[in-house]
Amino acid sequence: MSTPPIASFGRDYLAIPGPSVMPDAVLRAMHRGAPNIYAGELIDIAASLVPDLKRVARTSGDVAMYIGNGHAVWEAALANTIAPGETVLVPATGRFGHGWADIALGLGAEVETLDFGKRAPMDMDRIAETLRADVGHKIKAVLAVHVDTSTSIRNDISALRATLDAIGHPALLMADCMASLGCDRFEMDAWGVDVMVAGCQKGLMVPPGMAFVFFNAKAAAARAAMPRVSRYWDWTPRANPEEFFMYWNGTAPTHHLYGLRTALDMLHAEGIEAVWARHALLARAIWAACEVWAQGGPLELNVADTQNRSCAVTALRLEAPNGTALRDWVEHNIGLTLGIGLGMAPPGDPSWHGFFRLGHMGHINGHMIMGLLGGIESGLMALDIPRGSGALEAAAGVIAKG
Ligand SMILES: *Cc1c(COP(=O)(O)O)cnc(C)c1O
Repeated sequence: MSTPPIASFGRDYLAIPGPSVMPDAVLRAMHRGAPNIYAGELIDIAASLVPDLKRVARTSGDVAMYIGNGHAVWEAALANTIAPGETVLVPATGRFGHGWADIALGLGAEVETLDFGKRAPMDMDRIAETLRADVGHKIKAVLAVHVDTSTSIRNDISALRATLDAIGHPALLMADCMASLGCDRFEMDAWGVDVMVAGCQKGLMVPPGMAFVFFNAKAAAARAAMPRVSRYWDWTPRANPEEFFMYWNGTAPTHHLYGLRTALDMLHAEGIEAVWARHALLARAIWAACEVWAQGGPLELNVADTQNRSCAVTALRLEAPNGTALRDWVEHNIGLTLGIGLGMAPPGDPSWHGFFRLGHMGHINGHMIMGLLGGIESGLMALDIPRGSGALEAAAGVIAKG
């Protein structure tokens, strides 16, 4: 057996776009024996999560909590609003848009997809054209991914609302904020979003296992008009439970409640605006380094325009097989795990080794991001991959200015 590299011992750093780094305080809160689910503090903790989740989402609407991952709430949002045979419009900017479309297909919806490729945000003119052509208002909902984690494209959700309103189209606006909630600015009510879905394992800093559907009065009315809704996915009793077990339609995710309580305390102690500002600053440091590397070699940011970039995840191109070689090198040699390139090349195509992603969501700060960038610099150097010099200095300059 070979000896592990000398710089690999110490605390590992998982810099993938979810699950994200978990705060020690969250882990400590979860480290306990089984609590009573029929009486006691868990009941108050559950009730206390509701207003604090709504504060993160910037909504005065309702929230339904589910035991599940992001895919679960993709399904939950549709199960409450879209009957088989009804039509949804999916403006896709990466793999997650297509993923939500696929869930809709599985529920018997008619899916109209507008594919904007992997490097550009939604084109509001093309969406407007499609909505205008829908004179009979067959399209019941627009399923929009705020940040598509596969491409790291961030879409302008308030512009999408303005597009719907300008045409007077009544479709529900649904947003997937799985990667953006608690990272990139998102204002559910101010931006006119009717339904929003998110999981707990990205910006909310909790291990995977809980997910949420936020909905407003317009979406509740659509739910009320459904011929039937699956008992399990029905958001109504979950959002207005008469008994504790109704929040989850069964046993509560006991330990997650403690973890999420602590994570929300941390987010609100920092302040959600400050949380967004931290993610924006750290993202700018990452972009600055990547732009310098790109000047002298093959590494390239997937999204050209900073306006369209997520502050939580960065997708990068580094001709195959160097994307994978770099990930392998930093994981093996320095205890740093980077995200794989997801959905950037066709399935089975070895060119997917030419992509990788950086997760910078949740419990991260300046020294972690400088460590992430320094680790990548070491890997590029070790693998002899050409790159511009001065990347770390550029990143440090961004952080120094604050
Ligand atoms: C992570 C993610 C999902 C899927 O979440 P799972 O928990 O893996 O099911 C969906 N959409 C976006 C934008 C994501 O980032």
